[in-house]
Amino acid sequence: MMERILERILDWIFPRRCIFCGGLMEEGLICEECGEKLPWLEEPLCRSHMGRVERLYAALYYDGTVPNAMAKFKFRGRSQLSRCLAALMLERMGTELRAEHCDRILGVPMHPSRQRRRGYNQAQLLARELSVQLDIPYSSCLKKIKRSKQQHTLRGRERKNAQKGSYRCQSLHGEKILLVDDICTSGETLKECARVLREAGAGCVIGAVVCKTPQYRDWKRENDKMLAFDPFNEMINDNEMSV
Ligand SMILES: [Zn+2]
Repeated sequence: MMERILERILDWIFPRRCIFCGGLMEEGLICEECGEKLPWLEEPLCRSHMGRVERLYAALYYDGTVPNAMAKFKFRGRSQLSRCLAALMLERMGTELRAEHCDRILGVPMHPSRQRRRGYNQAQLLARELSVQLDIPYSSCLKKIKRSKQQHTLRGRERKNAQKGSYRCQSLHGEKILLVDDICTSGETLKECARVLREAGAGCVIGAVVCKTPQYRDWKRENDKMLAFDPFNEMINDNEMSV
């Protein structure tokens, strides 16, 4: 009874709004209209063997109303959106992630100084939500030790080099790791984290993100036969808002 009263008071103070368009709603996380228009990936498994990331899962393309929702989550202090976004991830890739049977889950770390300024790390918030929902122990074995330039100011090779020596990991013993981030653009951040995790002894690294940039989709459609060649890193000119 008390719970219901509290819920009604909270609804009155904080009316439910769609996380994508901001429209008022009766219930749920996403309004009907946005739910129909969301740029879902055709398949949650979007890349295999991306560097040392064995498989990468994504729920949405970074397209349409998604960038606005991600910006709210990342830059405008809406850390509580982690619950909604983790629910979206689970809706799309829950079955696949459960079937991976990972031993530990972690979010891409931020440099402590940047995290202090923002007040939270959005990737770790997502990982914590997923840890509870998937019943996988949360780990903070990976740390960011070097501040890197904002990724969106860099291109291709620069972006790759900027990540070098940025992360450190405590010793692992063959664990299968689920590595979580909010957005995947070039994939350099996830690849570098996976490389460090494997070097520290992880047996396998699986990646999971809320969304990925759509350029890859367009590129893939046109160049499906050229998958061995990966111009993705060079081509992309995105607005990745990195760790
Ligand atoms: Zn909406």
